[in-house]
Amino acid sequence: MLAVRGRDAGPAREPPFLPSVRIIFRQAPFGVSRSPGSWLTLMLLCVVIVPTIGVVWFMRQAVDNERLAGRQKLAEAYHAHLAGLRSRLEENWNRRDPATPPARTAGEAASRFASLVRSGAADAVVVLDPSGAPLYPDTATPPETSSTSPAWREAEALELKSPAAAAAAFGRIARDADDVDTRARALQAQARSLLRSGDRAAALTVLTAILDDTRLAPAIDPQGRLVVPNAGLLALELARELQPDGVSAIRARLRADAVDYEHARLPAPQRRFLLRELQRLDPDATVAALLAAEDLAAAYLAADEQPARDTALRLSALPDLWQSVADGGGTILLHRAEALPGRLSTVLGPTGLPDDVRLEFVAPGHETGDALVSLPAGALLPGWRLALVVPDLRRFEAAADARAVSYAWIAALVVLTIVVFASLAWGLVRRQTALTRLRNDLVANVTHELKTPLASMRLLVDTLLQSTTPDPQTTREYLQLIATENLRLSRLIGNFLTFSRIERNKYSFDFHDVPAGEIVTAAAAAVRDKMQAPGCRFEVDAAPDLPRIPADADALATALINLLDNAWKYSGADKAITLTARADVGTVRFAVRDNGIGLSPRDTRRIFRRFVQVHRTPHAGGGGVGLGLSIVEFIVTAHRGTVQVESAPDRGSTFTIAIPVAASSP
Ligand code: ADP
Repeated sequence: MLAVRGRDAGPAREPPFLPSVRIIFRQAPFGVSRSPGSWLTLMLLCVVIVPTIGVVWFMRQAVDNERLAGRQKLAEAYHAHLAGLRSRLEENWNRRDPATPPARTAGEAASRFASLVRSGAADAVVVLDPSGAPLYPDTATPPETSSTSPAWREAEALELKSPAAAAAAFGRIARDADDVDTRARALQAQARSLLRSGDRAAALTVLTAILDDTRLAPAIDPQGRLVVPNAGLLALELARELQPDGVSAIRARLRADAVDYEHARLPAPQRRFLLRELQRLDPDATVAALLAAEDLAAAYLAADEQPARDTALRLSALPDLWQSVADGGGTILLHRAEALPGRLSTVLGPTGLPDDVRLEFVAPGHETGDALVSLPAGALLPGWRLALVVPDLRRFEAAADARAVSYAWIAALVVLTIVVFASLAWGLVRRQTALTRLRNDLVANVTHELKTPLASMRLLVDTLLQSTTPDPQTTREYLQLIATENLRLSRLIGNFLTFSRIERNKYSFDFHDVPAGEIVTAAAAAVRDKMQAPGCRFEVDAAPDLPRIPADADALATALINLLDNAWKYSGADKAITLTARADVGTVRFAVRDNGIGLSPRDTRRIFRRFVQVHRTPHAGGGGVGLGLSIVEFIVTAHRGTVQVESAPDRGSTFTIAIPVAASSP
């Protein structure tokens, strides 16, 4: 594996000796403070998320308030308009009563009923006479006037015993009768007797004759009912069976009578009966509408309602049925609640409202729902409300929407600012924390690394001092060991000082063109004693004609000594270490090779970082704090050179420093 550090080492390089969050502190010897990540994250959450939620909440509130304010303005604007509509409605409603004099005859009353219902002015009508009693629909049954002529009684007596004879007798009465009522009733009785006798065809002929004789039209029976329609209904039934071709003519005739409120003097109950029968046989919208009106008026009268007294609308005794008077009190108009809004709108006329604003009449007990504005409908419609509904309010909220967009932008900016400042603060705190840890770890490492050689030296010195007759050979060996420890200590302290100077930007180089061979010699001399230990083969192989290089000779030698120290530390008992120097295309390449424990590809990429130690327990004596290679890299970079490492686990390592040769060199 080959890793290149120093000049042109690629973009992944870190600036040397600046505190970096990527520093890896391996196996800190003494208690190292815990990672502050968790509380930092918590702090970040508090600092960013809480204000963000707050800002978003405030923004939403502001937008809602804006919408509400817009709505209120709109409601205020329409409030006056709605009040105006209410006054106009009341005026129009009262004005539409032409104060027609009260109806005096039943015919007049029926005609008024029909015209009001047909015009849609009401769902049903009750026309009163001047005394306030209902004229139409009439409920009172006229006193029964029975024909008691002897001939009639005779014919009636025959009806059960001999219907055919009775039919003949009634035929004679009809022929001889002076008045239309008797003639019509006799013909009706003749038809009835013929039916009893089983002569249905003859009965139909008699009934058709009644229908065709226009003089019989006003004829009434003792109960006050018109004879012709009753005869017509019977004829219709017989014709459906005996003479289908004639059915439609009979039906048309009956329908004309039923819907004729001008001439046909049908009493209301008989008319309702006729209308119902017709509707049953042949449903028709006109008949249905009149029948509904008749039914409603009859139900109103049956409910024994206290009639309305003024033109304002009052709830009647029937549920959802409203009443008001017209014609100066001569007519009671009845309105179903569901039909009233449409009728009131017609009375009101154009509202002058925009297309998308709708006027609604809200009945008592109903909700105004999402009405923009609503008002009590006033005296005209007690309990009702007038409401303006805007189905698509958003169209009116364009201004609020525009404001909402600007609020959203402001909120986004505020949140962004919070995030930016929080990130800056977070970075600052992390940086500070990293620096604090760096300082603590450095103190811990330095103390640890200084303690070991000092303890060894003290032990050796104590042993020598305690010996009364020191053996010269042993004394020499001990002193040798003390010297080695001392050297190691000096190098360690040298490295610390270098690191400290680098950190404080106080490290200065003294560049001269020096022969590359001198640097090799100086480095080899510095480590020679150590390398002469048993089990260690140390070779120096420097080409004789090495060119000169611009260098701070002491610094570059320190770099080589660091590499040689490492080669010694990270090799086993049988060490083979070589220091070579070769000229190579404009550079001088210094290489330190060992047969030690080597490095994995991943480790070769990170060993140049400060305080990174892959192997904490060196094979052969000597500690370290993970600064050596970072100092090497710093020195090499200052020389515009590169440092490479080629290594594999258990196969040894080769560290190569390439320094450009001096311009003056051949
Ligand atoms: P240290 O004080 O730990 O020696 P260095 O910066 O000199 O610090 O080296 C960093 C790490 O690189 C060492 O801890 C060691 O794990 C690894 N290392 C350095 N040189 C060698 C080598 N020649 N063989 C194997 N590992 C090495």
